[in-house]
Amino acid sequence: MEEAERLVKKYFEFVSEKKFMGLKCKDCGAYILPPKSICKKCGSREFEWVELSGKGSLYTFTVIHVAAKRFLNDAPFVVGVVQLEEGPRITARIVGVDPNKPETIKTGMPLKATFIESGGQVLLAFEPEK
Ligand SMILES: [Zn+2]
Repeated sequence: MEEAERLVKKYFEFVSEKKFMGLKCKDCGAYILPPKSICKKCGSREFEWVELSGKGSLYTFTVIHVAAKRFLNDAPFVVGVVQLEEGPRITARIVGVDPNKPETIKTGMPLKATFIESGGQVLLAFEPEK
């Protein structure tokens, strides 16, 4: 298995244990998420797994009305790009918002990580921070 593939697999293993982990570059301190085998900032291949704060803000979002088969029962739902406090942006399900009232969903709104179970698996999601 390729290194990048191994790292992505490990990442999803953490998610299945309801842990939000990312790679941190040992050389420049950048967070690499989704995991890659090379730091795009400094080219280093020396990383460590660190638990992320799960805090971020909504960068952009879309409402999914027609979902892939295994998530069919969830539709409509919101998928967003979350700007994490640690720097990277990650795409994830946004819960605790009303997909039928997208005007109530604001870019920039503070979010925190949570986990949902859907389609027989644990998914990383984000919900509004109260
Ligand atoms: Zn680096």
